[in-house]
Amino acid sequence: MAHTIKLHDLEFTPYLSEDKLRAIVSEVAGRINHKYEGKTPLFVVVLNGAFMFASDLLKEVSFDCEISFLRVSSYRGTSSTGEVKELMPIGTDVTDRDVILVEDIVDTGKTMGEVMAKMKLEGARSVSVCTLLFKPDAFQGSYTVDYIGVEIPDRFVVGYGLDYDGLGRNLPSLYQIKPNT
Ligand code: 5GP
Repeated sequence: MAHTIKLHDLEFTPYLSEDKLRAIVSEVAGRINHKYEGKTPLFVVVLNGAFMFASDLLKEVSFDCEISFLRVSSYRGTSSTGEVKELMPIGTDVTDRDVILVEDIVDTGKTMGEVMAKMKLEGARSVSVCTLLFKPDAFQGSYTVDYIGVEIPDRFVVGYGLDYDGLGRNLPSLYQIKPNT
């Protein structure tokens, strides 16, 4: 049974269990399988946070696909810096490809917006976004987030790939920052 945890100076309470996450991931995979059957899209996993979600999601994808990785950074502590930096380029030609970006969380939407623009600039035929978590109250983007696992309130979460200043990525379930911290 998960319990309250402390990472650096902050406390976090259990939010979404492993079972719940599994069900959410399967449901998203089902929707993607339905849409891309017969095509060979390129999944671009946005590191670091999406590694665990991507690993579980892609095991349930039933059509031919390619997988690449892109590493960007926009966060310090528990708030976005507003500046998206590319730390590791994708290294795959996206010209005329149907690209599906895989993200752990879309918060303000700035990171995804910039990555989408970059893919289009590089000649992708289509760019879709698949995110495990979506914070509708924080979202400022003017694009559609095609596949959303679950909508969550605008509170900081860790676990299942997501970190707080480097810690918490290895946790198998999701935790939410404790109220009043
Ligand atoms: P955006 O550009 O949409 O504001 O932020 C996206 C990135 O910020 C995500 O890829 C993720 O790394 C980070 N982020 C946003 N919200 C959270 C959160 O609640 N917890 C953690 N750990 N990272 C977050």
